[in-house]
Amino acid sequence: MKYSVIVCPKCKSHVQIIEDGIKSTVCQRCGSRLALKKLKIWHTTTDLADAVSVRTALLMKLDERS
Ligand SMILES: [Zn+2]
Repeated sequence: MKYSVIVCPKCKSHVQIIEDGIKSTVCQRCGSRLALKKLKIWHTTTDLADAVSVRTALLMKLDERS
């Protein structure tokens, strides 16, 4: 399984880990439907633990900005 880390472009405050191959997802914070091909993929990995640590780092970065 491959995982991608994305940031919701609408609220810019929700980082989500998605499974590779899906076409769309819904932001769990603002409810926006997100088409994957329009999203910036921040990180791709086959290791879920790796994806989680990238997600945590991104969340901290987003926190600093706000
Ligand atoms: Zn959102």
